[in-house]
Amino acid sequence: MTLSSVLIANRGEIALRVIRACKELGIRSIIAHSEADRDSLPVRLADQSLCIGPAPAKLSYRHADALIAAAQGSGADAIHPGYGFLSENADFVALCETEGVGFVGPSAEVIRRMGDKIEAKKIARRAGVPTVPGSDGAIADHDEAFRVAEEVGFPLLIKAAAGGGGRGLRVVKAAETLAGDLAEIMAEAEVAFGDPSVYIERYLTDIRHIEIQVVSDGTTTLHLGERDCTVQRRNQKLVEEAPSPVIDHETREGLAKAAVALCEEVGYTNAGTVEFVFDNATGEYYFIEMNTRIQVEHPVSEMVTGIDLIKLQLNIAGGEKLRITQNDVRIRGHAIECRINAEDAERNFAPNPGTIQGFRAPGGFGVRLDTHIESGSSIPPFYDSMIGKLICWGQDREEAIERTLRALSEFTIEGVVTTAAFHREVLNTETFRSGKFNTGFIADYMEDRPHDHR
Ligand code: ADP
Ligand code: ADP
Ligand code: MG
Repeated sequence: MTLSSVLIANRGEIALRVIRACKELGIRSIIAHSEADRDSLPVRLADQSLCIGPAPAKLSYRHADALIAAAQGSGADAIHPGYGFLSENADFVALCETEGVGFVGPSAEVIRRMGDKIEAKKIARRAGVPTVPGSDGAIADHDEAFRVAEEVGFPLLIKAAAGGGGRGLRVVKAAETLAGDLAEIMAEAEVAFGDPSVYIERYLTDIRHIEIQVVSDGTTTLHLGERDCTVQRRNQKLVEEAPSPVIDHETREGLAKAAVALCEEVGYTNAGTVEFVFDNATGEYYFIEMNTRIQVEHPVSEMVTGIDLIKLQLNIAGGEKLRITQNDVRIRGHAIECRINAEDAERNFAPNPGTIQGFRAPGGFGVRLDTHIESGSSIPPFYDSMIGKLICWGQDREEAIERTLRALSEFTIEGVVTTAAFHREVLNTETFRSGKFNTGFIADYMEDRPHDHR
């Protein structure tokens, strides 16, 4: 069975990305959108659009019943959730399963197990995958927190089991604040994620974030190499690249094997990402979490492998088996992605919603722009501030950097302040060019940032 129509339960650039893949596969695309996105490009480019509710995501993009009803009413075979919103919501996927609506992603059961970061770490250990030293499970009380703290030392990291998107993490520097921090983060996790469970990890200070893209049809699990997402601000990714500029062949193979072993352990299907932190000092790596969905930065893997990940997702959801083997996956050249956000770097990256007055997209060889923005687009205040991604390919890292800088210099967005200029600054630093940095790079850079950079 292949899919004949898909309901897209998302917005913005990822909705457009899925519509494009559907068109190329001859799949009818139906977009479920909020009132705020009525005039958006994805709504105009989809084969059909259904307004499912008001702007707040809870009443539209996160409204499970409305989405299921829209899928059933329009005769969609499956729902593509994109990223964010309901993409990793096991209850929603379970509802799809009982209502007979397909889901482009793994089963509800797999999402439930891997979405709980504590459970995911246990599964990783069972699969022989190294994890960051820390508590064995959820922290039951203060006594246990202090006991674990004695083992892992300070600073340590308290993490919400249900956290995501860089939220639900708290660094604790010393024993004095441990009890207070623990209570606070548990209360925050309850409000933000509906689950107060937290766990503790050693806080590693000189690390890179390296993740493996995996894809499985339920029988065969392949990996598409790594992405290096070390350039982060407040635990959120800003720039991603493939391949990693630092790891050697042995580490690369080790990471990939670990990711595939983990997927096989849980019976993973569809596309997913296994995230690791890599210790610069020792060269060791540790599993941190798995994202059971397509990720924002998937295009860098597409650019270096030539494989369309969204099409793979749709084909797998339609019951097809992979037509490629691990040997067919070849990494060629280097790709860099800059997340362009409607945020003001001069005001502590405050979101900057508004209307786009002028828009000129960069172009040329090796330049890819994934965005739903055009002149006249509105950036509503209700959603994530990411308005697009610039992805540039080069024969090597050097060329990819020069091409990205060239593309950024052509790129004009008027009407809202974006982070495009900040990306030029970052890519121009000696540190970024050297490839040798850690997840503290942006924080360090902001401390010493010259004032005449604009
Ligand atoms: P990726 O893991 O694909 O690199 P992010 O971690 O930035 O991307 O998350 C993708 C999007 O999903 C972001 O808009 C982020 O805010 C959102 N997101 C991810 N996980 C959660 C979560 N558990 N709760 C709320 N939003 C989330
Ligand atoms: P999220 O679900 O929000 O993406 P992750 O567990 O993936 O959370 O962690 C987000 C980021 O936080 C990582 O990319 C890394 O930069 C940092 N981080 C996570 N675990 C640790 C750790 N044990 N020590 C230091 N930094 C960490
Ligand atoms: Mg993560």
